[in-house]
Amino acid sequence: MVGRDVRILVTGGAGFIGSHLCDALLAAGHEVWAADNFASGRAANVAHLGGQPRFRLIEADVTRPLPPELPPVERIYHLASPASPNAQSPRSYLQLPLATADVNTIGTRLLLERAREDGARLLFASTSEVYGDPAIHPQPEDYRGNVSPTGPRAVYDEAKRFGETLVAAYWREFGLDGRIVRLFNTYGERMDPEDGRVIVNFAMQALRGEPLTIYGDGTQTRSFCYVGDTVRGIVAAMEAPDGAGEVFNLGNPDERTIADFAATVQRACGTALPTRYEPLPTDDPTRRCPDISKARRLLDWAPRVGLEEGLRRTIPYFRAELARLTPAHAAP
Ligand code: UDP
Repeated sequence: MVGRDVRILVTGGAGFIGSHLCDALLAAGHEVWAADNFASGRAANVAHLGGQPRFRLIEADVTRPLPPELPPVERIYHLASPASPNAQSPRSYLQLPLATADVNTIGTRLLLERAREDGARLLFASTSEVYGDPAIHPQPEDYRGNVSPTGPRAVYDEAKRFGETLVAAYWREFGLDGRIVRLFNTYGERMDPEDGRVIVNFAMQALRGEPLTIYGDGTQTRSFCYVGDTVRGIVAAMEAPDGAGEVFNLGNPDERTIADFAATVQRACGTALPTRYEPLPTDDPTRRCPDISKARRLLDWAPRVGLEEGLRRTIPYFRAELARLTPAHAAP
């Protein structure tokens, strides 16, 4: 964490990870401006920060110039983007394809310009999706990936890849201090309970007493990182003394099959419900697991919260969300 008090912009600050990042930065004594257009972020995620004098939430679309009331900043964390691949959610990148492409390309470009003007450092939240359906396992940062440029996921995968290209180009051309983190699957409190991601679906289904929907045969793998660990890694990447121009994987290398994950969520919820098999979405990656040796070495970072412990912390949140949503669902 930077040792003095600075002004920081967090784009996507009302999102799941962004709101936790705002909490961490405020707790460290910084002034935080969260920008969000609420395409997938939720005001409820930062409602608890309303009374904080060092916190400001601005409704802004970062593909356009930022509002003039935003004073110069020293750090820009660019997290704004839809991130769920589940076509059934209106907030997924499959339902917001061009907005997703724009925020990660045009938005990144404008924020890099803003960083130049302000003399700020910028961190771009990229994704494990840049590796696509990986041919190398686990994935180190120097693996170049296996991504379809025209498939349905490309608006996210390719836009994140081009966002990375822009950060690298600003570093080379202007010496602008940009850093890239590739976030692997992250879970925890404040996930949108309707965004269709696997942990959300399994937890909500288990708590409703419904069958768990496994897409494909459940042998595909993911590695799930608790949000507190992810946020600690993001800040470490931003503040690493030798981090300019670097790329870091951030994720938990504890790889699980989706079938195993369904059973683990059921244990955390105390249920024994049946599973229902549904078709695997197009271009769904077969396996995914981060190689985090670089983050361990340069950031002294590794996840601390295991999956069972993380679920123990997160399930009460989903229970509360279910109680909040149930009357609405019961309405005609
Ligand atoms: N998945 C599933 N059931 C669901 C939702 C997702 O089996 O109800 C699978 C999905 O096909 C993928 C994995 O779980 O293989 C993780 O999906 P998620 O949407 O969380 O994110 P992704 O890692 O694909 O970006």
